[in-house]
Amino acid sequence: MLKKSEERARAMLGDLTRAGLKLTAQRKAIVHEFAADPTHPTAQDLYDRLRGDFPQMSFATVYNTLDALASAGLSGTLRIGNAARFDPNTLPHHHVVCEKCGAIGDVPAKTLDPSPAATRNVRRAAPGFRVRAVERIYKGLCLACQRENS
Ligand SMILES: [Zn+2]
Ligand SMILES: [Zn+2]
Repeated sequence: MLKKSEERARAMLGDLTRAGLKLTAQRKAIVHEFAADPTHPTAQDLYDRLRGDFPQMSFATVYNTLDALASAGLSGTLRIGNAARFDPNTLPHHHVVCEKCGAIGDVPAKTLDPSPAATRNVRRAAPGFRVRAVERIYKGLCLACQRENS
């Protein structure tokens, strides 16, 4: 059986082709790196990591590739703090965020669909707002940071 990240990478490459992007060696490397990355990287993170192997690669190539994946629904996007992060996990999930080091992890969820009660609450607080999804952020300390503290 294929590893999950390889399946993801394959689906992503297929969609980039359908979106009309040429699958250059750089783009393939970006996709493989991203598909296997559970850390919710920014475009800058991936750029920094790949630049050693591809000195010719531009930041724009990394960003455009991730943006095309997001448009095709193969990457989630996440804004925590002031950085836009990309998320190869497209199944419904919430996030844990470490308040010290900023590490982000996934917490699987059955659904992100808003319950009728959630929809009513939001309507009351923000008239006219149409809720699409309810996504939780659990704040706290990751294991590594707890160990550092003790
Ligand atoms: Zn931490
Ligand atoms: Zn995630």
